[in-house]
Amino acid sequence: MVISFHKLVLRQIIKIETGSRLMSTFPRATSERAKELTDAYDRVGQKVKELSTKCEHPVNIVAVSKFKPSSDIMALYEHGVRHFGENYFQELMAKAAELPRDIKWHFIGGLQTGKCKDLAKKIDNLYAVEAVDSLKKCEKLNVARKSVGGSKINIFLQINTSNEEQKSGYRLDNLEELYETIEYLLDEAQCSHLVFKGLMTIGSMDESTSGKRNVDFDRLVLLRKQLEEKFLIKLETSMGMSNDYEQAIEQGSSNVRVGSSIFGSRPSKANK
Ligand SMILES: *Cc1c(COP(=O)(O)O)cnc(C)c1O
Repeated sequence: MVISFHKLVLRQIIKIETGSRLMSTFPRATSERAKELTDAYDRVGQKVKELSTKCEHPVNIVAVSKFKPSSDIMALYEHGVRHFGENYFQELMAKAAELPRDIKWHFIGGLQTGKCKDLAKKIDNLYAVEAVDSLKKCEKLNVARKSVGGSKINIFLQINTSNEEQKSGYRLDNLEELYETIEYLLDEAQCSHLVFKGLMTIGSMDESTSGKRNVDFDRLVLLRKQLEEKFLIKLETSMGMSNDYEQAIEQGSSNVRVGSSIFGSRPSKANK
């Protein structure tokens, strides 16, 4: 079969396009909005870089884009940002479908058991699930991911460090449940499609706004050390949001989830 020059050129174009669409068909922000976003991202990025250097550990920024349009995400994507965080399954599905395939999505919202299957099956560039709080959810994520032969999903187990009733996450006063989940995650024969990446916490509002050392962050870091010794593994910590990411890095965070400081404020009902 003779391949025409035209087809060869077309193939080249397809190779340099990002994901399944041509760059020009992705949602676009106005140049003003794009500048606002990239300036804000760079301000956060600069602070993170300084603190990361000072504290001598690498820090990844997850840009939390919930309730913000895909065009905002695209503006940061073109600025080189790849890690984005979303809280709601439907919203993540819609955005993942219209945005480049090399975005590394972090699902950071409360995850219902019934949504695990779809999340793991339908979003092939799902990089991490950050608020996992039960063995059952891990099992469901693993089985679903395996069934589609997808890449491994990084798992952050959520810890309720502030011991608040309304917060989800493993409780510190009953570690058996947490150990059981970790044993599952580390057993490659059973759990082939998940990677135990680290621990995640939100912490209490009071601790976050105290302006002092955050006790909840200390609890997470202490638990990380205990688990690293017990299971002979290395773990990351996902802690710190717009209000408290600087403090979190000082206390050892390797993954900060920053929304409003990059994208601007959200409507208050969406502010969860
Ligand atoms: C919304 C959200 C964030 C980002 O919050 P900001 O205060 O806007 O930075 C981080 N983590 C989780 C779990 C969230 O739900």
